[in-house]
Amino acid sequence: MVKVSIEQIEKQLGSYLKETYKHLHEHPELSAEEYETQAFITKELDRMGIPYQKMAKTGVCAVLEGAEAGKTILLRCDIDALPIDEQTGLAYASTKPGVMHACGHDAHTTIGLGVLSVLKERLSEWKGTVKIMFQPSEEVQPGGAKPMIDEGILENPTVDAGLCLHTNPFLAPGKFEMRKGYMLANTDRVYISLIGKGGHAAAPQQGIDAIAMAGQFITGIQNIVSRQTSPLDNAVITFGTINGGTTSNVMCDRVDIAGTVRTIRTETQDKIIAQIEQLLKSVTDFWGGEYTYNYSKGYPASWNDPELTDVVATAIQTAFGEDKVVENEHPYMSGDDFSVVAQAVPSVFMYWGTGSDEKENFPWHNAYYHVNLEALKYGVATAVESITALLQSEKVGK
Ligand SMILES: [Zn+2]
Ligand SMILES: [Zn+2]
Repeated sequence: MVKVSIEQIEKQLGSYLKETYKHLHEHPELSAEEYETQAFITKELDRMGIPYQKMAKTGVCAVLEGAEAGKTILLRCDIDALPIDEQTGLAYASTKPGVMHACGHDAHTTIGLGVLSVLKERLSEWKGTVKIMFQPSEEVQPGGAKPMIDEGILENPTVDAGLCLHTNPFLAPGKFEMRKGYMLANTDRVYISLIGKGGHAAAPQQGIDAIAMAGQFITGIQNIVSRQTSPLDNAVITFGTINGGTTSNVMCDRVDIAGTVRTIRTETQDKIIAQIEQLLKSVTDFWGGEYTYNYSKGYPASWNDPELTDVVATAIQTAFGEDKVVENEHPYMSGDDFSVVAQAVPSVFMYWGTGSDEKENFPWHNAYYHVNLEALKYGVATAVESITALLQSEKVGK
């Protein structure tokens, strides 16, 4: 196993990591448009002398072989940004109005390059192959993981295990969160229209009020999670938009509602899909209206292989201390298309502490989101320890 200390990484790579992060943060690109980011990554790989292949249009797979043949571990680093106008006021804030790295994918890309740099320098200390999956389009479904898998990233050589570190602004640098089993949720989208009949607002009996139907539907829908699913089974239904009507004295003839449904278990997901439709039917029957219903399944829930989670947690605890790993009691209700990798090969997804003590931390996808630059070295060191522990574990590639 490659032994690295935080001090070594700081000395060797501290300013490289910060400068790389700042550059990527200043130059964010939206999903599937990461051409400059791809060029930056390949320029760094050329400089380091690491072979790579461009994949899925704007993605890159870097392949580093150790001193001897062995297992193959893949580290996923997503590279895309979000359509958000950055408000952090940082000196290295986005130079592109309306585009911002507000999910930390710039930090993921940075540690991918950092890990390659460390492993390249210590080629004699490990055996096997490391693939870094610089993945585009995580933020927009159907995602960039599947196209990279379709183009063969898990083959030649065959990947034995997958690993992913995601920034977490609510966790201190040096700490990592993970759990065995489900780590992230099914993230689905739902689009509904309730269709009534227009008329004079003073004569409601002549029309069909789509706003009244929507009110009943929205009140009813919260009974699904509170009354129809187990309190011990994680599920969330949230509507993020509702639109309808034109003016105060005209009866609204149509309301459009869009939201998200998050579940862990497939059975619960299927039950909610059916129950939303049942409620739509009963509400529109009562009012004499109609509906359209479009349920779109998104990224599947992400599963952490229990044995490999143990291997990774033990490696981090041994290298950096018992208290560095936080075991999550529950899965997160957010999603990530790393789950597609996790469905194909045994994998571990963990959160990586990137919060700050000195200023307020904001959630992912917020215009004030920021990453503590001091966290970068912990990300690299932990990824190196985890990858090399997996490379030599008997539990991998069984
Ligand atoms: Zn995100
Ligand atoms: Zn993300």
